This record gives sequence, C-alpha cells and structure tokens, in this order.
Amino acid sequence: MKPVIDADACIGCGVCESVVPDVFQMQDDGKAHVIKEAGVDETQVQSAADQCPTQAIKLE
Ligand code: SF4
Repeated sequence: MKPVIDADACIGCGVCESVVPDVFQMQDDGKAHVIKEAGVDETQVQSAADQCPTQAIKLE
C-alpha cells in the first residue's frame, strides 16, 4: 500500500500535510507531494484521504 496524489485534482489546500506531515509535503508547485511511500501509517493516510476536499489521494 502506498499513497498516491492525483496532481490534477490537488488544489493545494494543505490538509493532507497537516494530517500526516511525514508522508505529505506541500512543495513549490503549490501542490502536495508524497515524500514517504513505504512503512506509512495506513490509518493516518486514510484519514488524510478522507479529508481531502477533492479526493485526490488514493491508496494503491
Ligand atoms: S488534501 Fe488533497 S487537495 Fe489538499 S493538498 Fe492534500 S492532496 Fe491536495
């Protein structure tokens, strides 16, 4: 299981970074990026995915 962000769907709200800062990071393009793919806390990542306003976060 690894988190993936649909960059086209991300509106850069920053919610995912605030929920799981070790996995999601806002970068210079104004969008969130996945900075950790392995060994993530799936419950926290799912929570971030649930709170993403555009459903841009998927767990693959
Ligand atoms: S919560 Fe969703 S829309 Fe907001 S920065 Fe993260 S991926 Fe982008």
